[in-house]
Amino acid sequence: MDRPDSHQIQAAVHRAVGEPTSIENLTISSAGPGEVRVAVSACAICHSDLMYVDGGWATDFPLVLGHEVSGCVVEIGENVSNVTVGTPVVVSLIRTCGQCRPCLKGQDVACEGEIPLDVKSPLKDKDGLAVSQGLNTSGFAEQVLVHHSQVVEIPEEMPLSVASLLGCGVLTGVGATRNTAEVGEGDIVVVIGCGGVGIGAIQGARLAGAEIILAVDPEDHKHGAAMDMGATHTANPKTDDVVEALNEATGGRLADHVFVATSSVTALSEAIELVSTMGALVLVGMPADGATFTIDPGLLAAQNQRILGSKMGTARLSIDVPALIDDYLTGELSLDSMISSTHPLEDIDKAFEEVRTGQVLRTLIVFNDASPGGNP
Ligand SMILES: [Zn+2]
Ligand SMILES: [Zn+2]
Repeated sequence: MDRPDSHQIQAAVHRAVGEPTSIENLTISSAGPGEVRVAVSACAICHSDLMYVDGGWATDFPLVLGHEVSGCVVEIGENVSNVTVGTPVVVSLIRTCGQCRPCLKGQDVACEGEIPLDVKSPLKDKDGLAVSQGLNTSGFAEQVLVHHSQVVEIPEEMPLSVASLLGCGVLTGVGATRNTAEVGEGDIVVVIGCGGVGIGAIQGARLAGAEIILAVDPEDHKHGAAMDMGATHTANPKTDDVVEALNEATGGRLADHVFVATSSVTALSEAIELVSTMGALVLVGMPADGATFTIDPGLLAAQNQRILGSKMGTARLSIDVPALIDDYLTGELSLDSMISSTHPLEDIDKAFEEVRTGQVLRTLIVFNDASPGGNP
């Protein structure tokens, strides 16, 4: 076949912890069998990106981060049938072989299959040296090359900018309530941390019919957004006694589900105090490598409580993303107001700083005309 085996793209490269990002010209491979190359419209910054940038999690440098992506397919490899060239898509880091034991059980986030992109990055720098594909995606770039299982088609009427949020933050937050914890009608829910993932969990709890949703965040300016998205009460752990706030909201009851959507270990230790008998503590945010917290196991057993890990909202992209698109198009799920700011690629360090200081629900790196309100 007569086509180039690689293409020039601009990307934001991280070369070491704590160093400013460098905008570089890289090459990206053409789509091999089962692969899809996507021109990126928008890529949101997630706390996971920040954990690598700031050294909380170990990784191989140099790398390109970014894993909450929307864009349009520009090339498909052999044996790709879920999209064609030109299809608008959301791209996620969840990559599945479809054949291993977890995949066959529908446990997509636990796929154990071998996929060529897992072992060979599609990115090289100007010296021909490999640049790691951060979080299976490398979305802070003009294009990404991913496995076909990582992309889901979005309808033309959905703006690409908001669609990017379905790649990680909202998928993770709503999925934690729907898939991991199975929040039900009338439940009492606490969400600790009101960034993109926490706001997703608040919306998921509202959509599930939770009666009380207490949003907890140390930044007062996030409380208004939390209430707009479905929280019924708010508390600030710096100034309020959160157990007391929950008691007041519920007339003396603790929570059926406490979602911790922050990487703070202190938040985890405090969160267990909020869980009712038969209730669950749901770990959605991921603390730094090696972090630990203490529980009283006797009390946990006696109170029949559960501690649940929730990776990417236990999502299955082919089921969860279309459901979220429906929720958005029927007006049930708010996405537009979750985008606090947008930046071009060259301002990525400024965007990272907004996430680091907790100023934003979500900030997007945008390419072309994918700004909010635009409908490319
Ligand atoms: Zn993420
Ligand atoms: Zn698999």
